[in-house]
Amino acid sequence: MRWYSKLAAAGLAALLQACATAPAVAPVPAVQAEVRAPITILISIDGFRADYLNRGVTPVLSRLAAEGASGTMRPSFPSKTFPNHWTIVTGLRPDRHGITANKIEDPDKPDKPFNMENDDPKWWNTAEPIWVAAEKANIRTATMFWPGSNVAFGGHRTGNWSEVEGGARPRDWQQFNMAISGEQRVNGALDWARRPAAIRPRFMTLYFDTIDSAGHDFGPDDPRTTAALGDVDRLIGMLVDGLAAMDQPANLVIVADHGMAGTSPERTILVGSFLPAGSYHVVETGPYASFAVIPGHEAELEKALLGRHDHFECWRKAEIPARFHYGTNPRIPPYFCLADIGWLLAEKPPKPTDDRGNHGYDNMAPEMAALFIAHGPAFIPAKLPAFDNVDVYPLLRDLLDLPPVDGLDGSDAVFMSTLHYDRGVAKR
Ligand code: AMP
Ligand code: ZN
Ligand code: ZN
Repeated sequence: MRWYSKLAAAGLAALLQACATAPAVAPVPAVQAEVRAPITILISIDGFRADYLNRGVTPVLSRLAAEGASGTMRPSFPSKTFPNHWTIVTGLRPDRHGITANKIEDPDKPDKPFNMENDDPKWWNTAEPIWVAAEKANIRTATMFWPGSNVAFGGHRTGNWSEVEGGARPRDWQQFNMAISGEQRVNGALDWARRPAAIRPRFMTLYFDTIDSAGHDFGPDDPRTTAALGDVDRLIGMLVDGLAAMDQPANLVIVADHGMAGTSPERTILVGSFLPAGSYHVVETGPYASFAVIPGHEAELEKALLGRHDHFECWRKAEIPARFHYGTNPRIPPYFCLADIGWLLAEKPPKPTDDRGNHGYDNMAPEMAALFIAHGPAFIPAKLPAFDNVDVYPLLRDLLDLPPVDGLDGSDAVFMSTLHYDRGVAKR
């Protein structure tokens, strides 16, 4: 017998002896289950119009709304994706936070406009997003997409390419990519929640684009848009079940950036049909149009443009009605026309294959109203009165136990009926 076989035999004999004298049930050392501190997840379902919740195809969201706080949320003007996502995470309206549109021209660099791919901090640096405020307070953050979350906030470009000096991003962030499926996005967030406490984010974002895309392609009333609602509802269910399976309490703040209105090639007005050629330069068209003037043509342009027209109205930027809170930011072009709901201003003649839905209209229009649901240990069930999306940022600060700040465009007052007294906040 080799030495290790002898050793094994001796060991086996000793073990059998020990078993014979041991009590029937050996004490198992207790494994202390972790009591997880609540996390906050801000979820954007792009283009989820408030009344989509009544279609009977969103059982998960409807349950969360019934058990938590829910209400109709008014977007800020203009009811576009980037301006409103930045409002939700900064508490300022677009006129003040500087992301005034999905497309912005820099008069000094007309060849380098801001668009939805632009991550040059100079466009974003006016207002600090919630993840930067949280990281400063040692709250770890992670973003599974959110406009601006890939930007080094506070930094500045050093070269012609994307090099940036300085600035802050969420501790974990992802470059936006529409090809990343909803399941992958949810699983990414669940994987973050599954991390050990020391490196687990306490604030996350999650973003879904498919309902907005379906609303544009097919219109808000099309069965394919309704089917997209069911799809995203299933993804929210996956998230809720995944968190429950790991006993992770979470305050979910589920929002949309805007609603959706039906559009049609028949309700399209060509800007060239009412403006003199050569007097203007188009910056944006769609539910609204914005223009710069070709120098020397001011009077000619103003005569044709200003005032009420059939299906739209135009103003000098300083005269845009006060209720829109829009028109003081230097990034807003000097002339602005807003179409009536469902109408479009276009540069080129419409095609029968054009989109059947759009947003960017009057932010008070019911078609632009956005989803809001808050659910989790911080919330007592409540039906909220309609409120503005500038109120979400102060709510997020409350959930993260960040001190109130002055100078915001909104407040957390509307949530006082729903916030639990201790807000389910994890103590630092
Ligand atoms: P809108 O044109 O206002 O309907 O914008 C919606 C679109 O914005 C989505 O379909 C996405 O393609 C795009 N989008 C959303 N989030 C981001 C992001 N973080 N970076 C770049 N594009 C985005
Ligand atoms: Zn959007
Ligand atoms: Zn959209």
